Amino acid sequence: MLLVGLAGCLTPKAPVLPELPLPPRRVELRVGDRYLFHSDVMLQAEHPVLQEVARLPQRVRHELHLPPSQTLVQVYLFADRGAYERYLHAHFRHLPPRRAIFMARSGPAGEELLVFAFWGDRILEDLRHELTHAELHSVCPNIPMWLDEGLAEFFEVPQEQDGVHYRHLAALRAELATPWSPSLERLEKLAWMRDLTPQDYREAWAWAHFFLRGPDSARRILLEYLQDLHKMCTATSSSAPSRPQDNPSPLPLSARLRQVIPEPEKALSQHLAALERRFTRLDADEPERR
Ligand SMILES: [Zn+2]
Repeated sequence: MLLVGLAGCLTPKAPVLPELPLPPRRVELRVGDRYLFHSDVMLQAEHPVLQEVARLPQRVRHELHLPPSQTLVQVYLFADRGAYERYLHAHFRHLPPRRAIFMARSGPAGEELLVFAFWGDRILEDLRHELTHAELHSVCPNIPMWLDEGLAEFFEVPQEQDGVHYRHLAALRAELATPWSPSLERLEKLAWMRDLTPQDYREAWAWAHFFLRGPDSARRILLEYLQDLHKMCTATSSSAPSRPQDNPSPLPLSARLRQVIPEPEKALSQHLAALERRFTRLDADEPERR
C-alpha cells in the first residue's frame, strides 16, 4: 500500500500530482458498485475474476462491521508485467518494485483511490489484497500499517480458506519450532513500508487471523478498535481544520488486547499450532511483498 500526499485522516483539496496519464488501448469497465477498471486486457463483466472481485467489498464490510463507502476505486489493469512496470516507472519513478500497488492521492475532486496490477497467474490474489487496502482506506484511512497489511493478507486468499494463508502458515511452522518472539507492540512501531520484511507480513497475517478467528474477546476488541478509527476520521473530516493534538490516537490494539488476554504472544502461538494441526496443504513459497 502507498499513500501519496495524505496526512492522517484529512484529505487535502489541492492536487499534489499531475493528471494521471492512462495506459494505451484501455477498456473501461464498471465492476460492481465500487470499481472502475481501466484495462489493457479484453474483459467482460461476467469474467470469474471480476465477479469475485465485485463481491469483495461486502465480504470485508461484513467481516469487519465497517460502514459502506461511496468512493469509486480506479483499477489500472495491464496485460503483462512488462507493461505494468514500464508504466509505473514512467509515472511514479520513486515507487519500490511491487507486483501490485494500492495508492491514495489527492485529486481535483477529492481523494482518489487507485490500484495498479497486471494480468498474471496471481491476479485474483493481487486484486483481493490491494482492493482490501482500498476498502479499509476508504473508511479507516488512519489504520496502522501492520494491521492494514495483516487484513489484506487475510482477505487475499480464496474465501473458502476463511483467511488461512497456507504459505504463511508453512513458513511460520519453522519459526514456531524455534524460540519465536511475536510482538504486536513491535509491529505497531513500524511506520514505513520499506521496513516491512516478509516475516513481518507473516506475523501481521498471524495476528489478524488470531483477532478474527481466535478468542471471541480478541475479535470484539479488533472490531471496536476499527470503529474507533472510523469515528475519529469521521469527526475530523466533518469539523474545521484541526491540529494533530486535537485528534489523539486511540489506545493501541496491543494495549487493548493485553487487558483481556494477559499473554497474547502465548495465545497466538497456540492459535497457530491449532491451525497447523488442522491444515496439511501447506506451500512454503516465499511471496513477493505488496
Ligand atoms: Zn499490501
